[in-house]
Amino acid sequence: MNQDSTKISLTNRSKVVSNKKMTFMERFYLPAIFKGMMITFSHFFKKEVTIQYPEVKRPFSDIYRGLHVLKLDDDGRERCTACGLCALSCPAEAITMVAAERTEDEKDLYREEKYAKTYEINMLRCIFCGDCESACPKEAIFLTDRLVPSEYKRAKFVYGKDMLVEKKDARVDISKRQTPEVLAFKNDKSKSHNK
Ligand code: SF4
Ligand code: SF4
Repeated sequence: MNQDSTKISLTNRSKVVSNKKMTFMERFYLPAIFKGMMITFSHFFKKEVTIQYPEVKRPFSDIYRGLHVLKLDDDGRERCTACGLCALSCPAEAITMVAAERTEDEKDLYREEKYAKTYEINMLRCIFCGDCESACPKEAIFLTDRLVPSEYKRAKFVYGKDMLVEKKDARVDISKRQTPEVLAFKNDKSKSHNK
């Protein structure tokens, strides 16, 4: 079999390596170093492409998907009913939850009769695809424009309810992520869970 016929060219950028002898100037190296320095110095006069993060932050796209938030309803009760659809739809298997039944005394804490006693997202597994948000029938989980901070220990990337549930006095704005369809649904008072 002709070996040339098995060659596959993936791009047209390949270059044949040359073994030609170096000229005197090439062996001298200084011209090449000078040329390299000129390229370096020329960058001093070009527009910077880097920013001084975290002092300077670039504005995020409206559809940026970052750290999740578990939302409370208008009365400050957790919206999540531990149905598990977010965990089922998660392609990275990043969500773990344990469901529990709400007691009479807990009606002010949880909107539905069932709630997530434990809700964890492993941020190292998460690929921020937003499928959990799309799957949630209770508008309980949203991705936000917040970043997951860096940590030294892997265990610290497993976020529990203490990190995910929004605080009553520090609500997280997710209005940019609500589609017109969702807003129309929320305004439909005939839907029982919007009452
Ligand atoms: S954003 Fe995607 S990968 Fe991350 S928890 Fe949600 S469904 Fe899973
Ligand atoms: S966040 Fe939504 S989809 Fe996930 S368990 Fe709670 S109610 Fe169900």
